[in-house]
Amino acid sequence: PKRIFSGIQPTGVVHIGNYLGALQKWVTLQNSGEDVTYCIVDLHSITLPQDPVALRQSILKLTATLLSIGIDPGKSTLFAQSSVKQHSELNWILSCLSTMARLSHLPQYKEKTQKLKDIPLGLFVYPVLQAADILVHKATQVPVGEDQVQHIQLAQHLARIFNFKYGTTFPICHALIDSDLGGRIKSLRDPTKKMSKSDPDPKSCIYVLDEPDVILGKVKKSITDFTSEVTYEPETRLGVSNLLQIHSLMSGKTIEQCVEDAKSIDTGKYKFQVAEAVIEHLNPIRKGALDYLKNPDYLISVLKAGGDKASERAEETMVEVKEKVGLGAGV
Ligand code: ATP
Ligand code: MG
Repeated sequence: PKRIFSGIQPTGVVHIGNYLGALQKWVTLQNSGEDVTYCIVDLHSITLPQDPVALRQSILKLTATLLSIGIDPGKSTLFAQSSVKQHSELNWILSCLSTMARLSHLPQYKEKTQKLKDIPLGLFVYPVLQAADILVHKATQVPVGEDQVQHIQLAQHLARIFNFKYGTTFPICHALIDSDLGGRIKSLRDPTKKMSKSDPDPKSCIYVLDEPDVILGKVKKSITDFTSEVTYEPETRLGVSNLLQIHSLMSGKTIEQCVEDAKSIDTGKYKFQVAEAVIEHLNPIRKGALDYLKNPDYLISVLKAGGDKASERAEETMVEVKEKVGLGAGV
């Protein structure tokens, strides 16, 4: 059977890269009646230092945002990773099948550790936990942004190793990547990098909950080049092309149409058009999320119910895994 699983870190606030690259797809899959499980991966968030109060707040904010964009707890399982202990349990078993060499080659690890003097072990091994997230739910499809391809490959690799050693247990999952996106949404401050929640400069991201004037300010200050025409050249004109990408996805117009409509204006003026499309698209989402946030008890109850449901399924997998690996005294 088809089982869809995906996760998002409650680090900071959801940005439009997350939204356009992954979350919109989450909603589409849910609404087409698929078996979907969505996880707020809080254990992944603590791979970098987090303030406990802010982390809790982020989890609720993210839940409110997910509900506001259309995640429906009646149609999907939404839960916090730390409330389903089987994720951590399987993580250990998969760690014992992973090698240091394989993990150290992952590009996200290289990126995230560039500026760190001391590298936390969790940051090094978190792709294994990510594989456990996917495998403990026996997911077959994983809707993610293009930056996650290597991590999904690791999950496939670990599933194959486990199946080979202990007998077929896990399906080989596949990444579902939106082809419209043409890769990933780039940082507004440095279009050679992807937009990232963990980027310390808030001007690099448009957050889904940003107020209209903040969005306008960020788009106006976004880095473009010294050519004034609006053209789509993703290889050479990264900044403008990123804006066109965002504009197209937010407005539903094709990139060609956006270019055509901007024929008589320069990039400076064009930024106002982009900001307008983004603001219009995000307005109802922000308002909806703020409404949900007025009722934290409801948000907590959604995650609790999702956690109970997810635990049941995950426990079935763990009973099978422990049996196959020979752990414990048997049942
Ligand atoms: P962090 O910097 O903390 O890793 P992030 O912005 O990468 O945060 P994640 O929670 O790691 O966010 O990823 C959530 C989902 O969003 C993943 O499916 C990821 O592939 C997707 N995603 C993240 N950044 C982008 C981006 N710039 N463009 C498209 N998709 C993205
Ligand atoms: Mg990430």
